[in-house]
Order: sequence, then structure tokens, then C-alpha cells
Amino acid sequence: MGGRWGAYARRGRVVAMLLALVFVLAACDFRVLSPARWGCGTHSYVVNPTRAPKGAVATVHEAFRQLNLASAPTVQWRYAGTTTADGARSGLVVVTWRPQNEVPGIMAPGAYGVGAPQPWPNNTKWTGGVVIIDPRYPVKLDVMLHEVGHVAGLGHVRDRNEVMYPLPTGKSHYMPGDLSGLRALALECK
Ligand SMILES: [Zn+2]
Repeated sequence: MGGRWGAYARRGRVVAMLLALVFVLAACDFRVLSPARWGCGTHSYVVNPTRAPKGAVATVHEAFRQLNLASAPTVQWRYAGTTTADGARSGLVVVTWRPQNEVPGIMAPGAYGVGAPQPWPNNTKWTGGVVIIDPRYPVKLDVMLHEVGHVAGLGHVRDRNEVMYPLPTGKSHYMPGDLSGLRALALECK
């Protein structure tokens, strides 16, 4: 959300197969960050709770629960405990809380957070990821879902009914376009 990670358009292959239904599928569209994909199998996420506002860690687990439902059975992320890491790692998804002014190179001013798969940029295979949330804002599940969606490989969409819309949506669940994208990414695991 508001990060610098580039995104380019890529319609789901379902759209190509069902052009006649494009008016329906337009609402179920998604974008991916790059041609890279996660490895097939189970990956680990860790949480640095040092500066997490009250209730924020629970949104991490809920976001990964929903991500795992959408990505099953080919790609999964399992909680591997807390960490003192404060930034991106390969081989691990790190979730942490830092104010935007500490990470101006990756989080845009005014952004609630940032999320991206790692290594970045990498057009082959992702092995980790990072989510940094600005702890000065109220705890928002939609923001965590959005940033974790970036970690999975989703980019922004123009449909404000999708979690991957660039501004907070207030959604408590991934929406049809988000789910289509997560499913496609998982099915294309490497
Ligand atoms: Zn975003």
C-alpha cells in the first residue's frame, strides 16, 4: 500500500478463456508484481512484535490464515515464531512495525505499510518476504491483508472492492479478484 514496488498488468488466464464473460470477470481481475513465483511447498513467517500496537499481531495470523486458504494446497505459510529482524530476509517472511520515516526508501509518506516478496526484484523465484506496518496508525486487518497479498505476489488493482486496491478498503476478507489472483499465483508455484 503506497509502496514503491512496481506492478504491471496481467490478466488471469481465465479471462482469456472466457472473453465472452469479460463483463463479469472484470470485477474478478488481479495483477501480479512480477513473473516470479513462490516455491511450491510450505514457507515460514516470523513476527517482530517489539513495536506492534495492541491487537496487531492477531491480524498477521488472520491474514496468513486467509492467504493459506486461498493458496492451498500448493503454497502455504506457517508461523515460525517471533524474531528481532526488522527488515527483509530471503527464505523467511518477516512482519514488523516501523514508522514510515525510518524506512523512507521503501515506504511512501502517508502509507500505512509496505509489503513485498523477497528477493526483490527477482523474476524467477521468491523465497521470503517483508511486511512493515506503520505503528502510528490504528490496527487494520485490511491493511495487513493487503500487504500480505503483496508478499504472495499480488499487485494493485483499480477495483475499490478488492483488498488490493491501493487505499484501505475496510475489508475483513480477500475479495473475488484477490482470491483469483492468489489461487493463480499458488498454482504457478515453482
Ligand atoms: Zn499496496
